Amino acid sequence: MTPLEQLPIPLLQWYHETARSLPWRAAPTPYHVLVSELMLQQTRVAAVLEYYRLFMEALPTVEALAAVEDDRLMKLWQGLGYYNRARNLKNAARRIVDELGGEFPRRYEDILLLPGVGEYTAGAVASIAFGLPVPAVDGNVLRVVSRLTADYGDISKASTKRRMRDALQAVIPVAAPGDFNQALMDLGALVCLPNGAPVCQRCPAGEFCAAKRLDCAGDLPIKPQKKARRIEARTVYFIFYEGKVALRRRGERGLLARLWEYPNELSPGACPVPPASVEHGGAGKHIFTHVEWHMTGQIIRPASGTLPDGWVWADREALGQRYAIPNAFRGFTPLVERNL
Ligand code: SF4
Repeated sequence: MTPLEQLPIPLLQWYHETARSLPWRAAPTPYHVLVSELMLQQTRVAAVLEYYRLFMEALPTVEALAAVEDDRLMKLWQGLGYYNRARNLKNAARRIVDELGGEFPRRYEDILLLPGVGEYTAGAVASIAFGLPVPAVDGNVLRVVSRLTADYGDISKASTKRRMRDALQAVIPVAAPGDFNQALMDLGALVCLPNGAPVCQRCPAGEFCAAKRLDCAGDLPIKPQKKARRIEARTVYFIFYEGKVALRRRGERGLLARLWEYPNELSPGACPVPPASVEHGGAGKHIFTHVEWHMTGQIIRPASGTLPDGWVWADREALGQRYAIPNAFRGFTPLVERNL
């Protein structure tokens, strides 16, 4: 038997003994699975737990999500990053409510048609919420399969992903596809760790894993070198007037689209409002997937309260409750709070 053919029984047994108790697992409705899976993309479970709780408190149903105002949605997502996930969630909810009569699609192919839902998420919803035997293959699962089968295929290539997905499709147990997929996710997250550091002695697949036998787990998976990130020096203007700070909305497209931010631009910049005084406002750095912002803050006290069109003044309460500010500026929060 191949390593993948041997996998289901020990993996499910391990899962039933060790499965993490997570709120979305307690009641795996399609809505709960969709929200949790989108939150978990690129984000650790520990970081998601509180967001998920508050999100479900505020938007307990797909109808509530479909009707939520964008700014409120962004506020609920503030700090999780990759904000397109939230927009996609709302678009998917609107499709379900407006076009499907509030009924979640039940077939894998139809789930895949929801906005922002790719093969991984569709597989997770189909298997966990509807019990359909469909794999859910993300980077963690590709890493586990690469090692289990000592497969030196480049996992960034569609052909490798397809091959590994097909191999899982052939062994996924029809009686427990959701548990199988979640067990694989847990194995990747807790045992078969990235960066050459798997904990093979705790692995339910240790007895038949090809990479362990060949002592090559540290070399797998194969993926291309990441491109170096672009570095941008930016000047960030903290403009304070009568206990409020100026915010503007980012553009409709691209990085952090439509979120609110402290006005900023590539350095050296020119202050966008006439300043009565300027002070140094410290420095900060934020790393996005493809770009790094190296930020220098300036504290601006303007001569008047006039702002460019579309900008707003926010007091402490509005900053806390209303406007979603990206994490990139989090290092400057003490500065802002001192000046409000
Ligand atoms: Fe990963 Fe080690 Fe388990 Fe193989 S034995 S699947 S390398 S943790």
